[in-house]
Amino acid sequence: MSSPAAGRHVVIIGASLAGTRAAEGLRAAGHVGPITLIGAEAELPYDRPPLSKDLLASDWSDETVAGFRLTTAAELEAAEVTLRLGVAAERLDLDRRVVELADGASAPFDVLVIATGAAARPSPWQPESGVYQLRTLDDSRAIAARLQTGKPLVVVGGGFIGTEIAAAAIGFGCDVTVVDPVPEPMARLVGPEIAGSLVDLHERNGAKTRFGVGVADIRGREDDLTVLLADGSRLETGAAVVGIGSIPGTAWLEGSGLTLDNGVVTDGNLRAIGAEDVYAIGDVARWPHPRRGTAIRAEHWTNASDQARYAATAIAQGDGAPYDSTDYVWSDQYDWKVHSIGWRDPEGSSIVVGDLGAQGRTAVVHTAASGDVTGVVTVNWVRGLNLARRLLTAGESAAQLTAELERLAGGVPAR
Ligand SMILES: Cc1cc2nc3c(=O)[nH]c(=O)nc-3n(C[C@H](O)[C@H](O)[C@H](O)COP(=O)(O)OP(=O)(O)OC[C@H]3O[C@@H](n4cnc5c(N)ncnc54)[C@H](O)[C@@H]3O)c2cc1C
Repeated sequence: MSSPAAGRHVVIIGASLAGTRAAEGLRAAGHVGPITLIGAEAELPYDRPPLSKDLLASDWSDETVAGFRLTTAAELEAAEVTLRLGVAAERLDLDRRVVELADGASAPFDVLVIATGAAARPSPWQPESGVYQLRTLDDSRAIAARLQTGKPLVVVGGGFIGTEIAAAAIGFGCDVTVVDPVPEPMARLVGPEIAGSLVDLHERNGAKTRFGVGVADIRGREDDLTVLLADGSRLETGAAVVGIGSIPGTAWLEGSGLTLDNGVVTDGNLRAIGAEDVYAIGDVARWPHPRRGTAIRAEHWTNASDQARYAATAIAQGDGAPYDSTDYVWSDQYDWKVHSIGWRDPEGSSIVVGDLGAQGRTAVVHTAASGDVTGVVTVNWVRGLNLARRLLTAGESAAQLTAELERLAGGVPAR
C-alpha cells in the first residue's frame, strides 16, 4: 500500500465522464485537499452514449440537454471542485509537476489524473462539405439537424456508433446505406451469431448495407455527395457520417516521459508508467487486464466510471488490489437492447440460448479455447444478463451457465 495523498492538490485533465466521476469520487473517498478539474470543451460535462441514441431524436430543448449533463456547476462548487472549462492542457512537465494550459496559465499538481478520453478518428476523405463525425454534443446536434431533413445518408463504419446513427436516421425517414469493409462489423465484440442478426435487423428496418467493401473516396459537397467504394461502385447521397473508431487523447503528453502506446500505459493500479503520482483513467488509459493476460484500452462507459472511482479511492486512501474491469457494454438499435459482459476470444466457441430470429430474449455464451467462459452477450434479456453476470463472477462452467440460462428462458434449448 502506498501512502494516501490527503491534503494534496489533485489536478484532473479532461472534464467528461472519467474526470467528473474522479472529482466526485475523491470527495466521496474522503480526499480533503484541493481538486481542479480542467476540460477542453466549453460545455458542462455531459454523457456521450445518448449522443447516438436518445438525443438524436430529441427536441434539443435546453431542458432535454440538461437531462444528459453529468453534473452541475452548483454540485461541483458544493464539492469544492474548481472547474476550468474551455481550456486544453498543452504540455505536461513532470519534473516541475505542472500542466501548461492553452491560455498560457499553468496548473501545478501534487497528483495528476489524466482523463482526456478519445476523439473520433478523423475522416481520411475530405470533400468540400457533407461529412459528419460524432464525438461531442455539437457533433450530435449537427447530425440531428441533418437527419431531420430526411435526405439520404451514407454511414461509413458499421460499429455500434455508426449503426445507432443509422437506426436513428431510419426513424427520420432517411434512405440509409451502411458501408464497412468487414463482412459482419460487430462480430468482434458480440460474435457472428448476434452480428449476423443485427445485419438482418437493420435490413428489416429498411437500411441498406454494403458490408465487406471499403470506401475509396468521398467526393462532392453536401446534398451532392458521391461515396466511391473499393469495388468501383458509387453511392450517390446527400451526406455521410464517418464512424471509423477513435484515437486516444495523448497528443499533449508527447515528450512528457510517460509511456504512450495507443493510450497512456499504466500499471495494474492505473498509475502511469514513467511517473510518480500520475494516474490515467477512462478511454485514454491502457492497463493490464488481470484476466485477459494483456493490456487493453476500453472505450466503454462503465469502465471509465469504474476506473474513476478506483483511482479516486487509491488517491484518497492508498493503493488496493489491482483494478479489475466488469467489461460491460451496451448498445440500443431499433427495439434491440444488446448487452455484453466479459469478452469474446476469437479462437474460442459459443453457445446460443434462445432464438435470435424471433427477436426475443437471447444469450450467447462465449468460451475460450480452454472451454472456460469468457463472456456473455444478451439481446433484450436483462434478467438473462443479470443471471449470467452472477454466474460468470462465481466462475461457473459453460455447461452450468447455459443450463441456468435455458431454465430461465423456459426450456429453450441451447444450440
Ligand atoms: C456517440 C457515442 C456513443 C457511445 N455509446 C456508448 C454506449 O452505448 N455504451 C458504452 O459503454 N459506451 C458508449 N460510448 C463510450 C463512452 O461514452 C466513453 O467510454 C466515455 O465517454 C469515456 O469517458 P472519458 O471521460 O474517459 O473520455 P471522453 O468522454 O472522451 O472525455 C474526455 C474529455 O477530455 C477532454 N480533453 C481531451 N484532450 C484534452 C486536453 N488536452 N485538455 C483538456 N481536456 C481535454 C475532451 O474534450 C473530453 O471532454 C459512446 C461514445 C460515443 C462518442
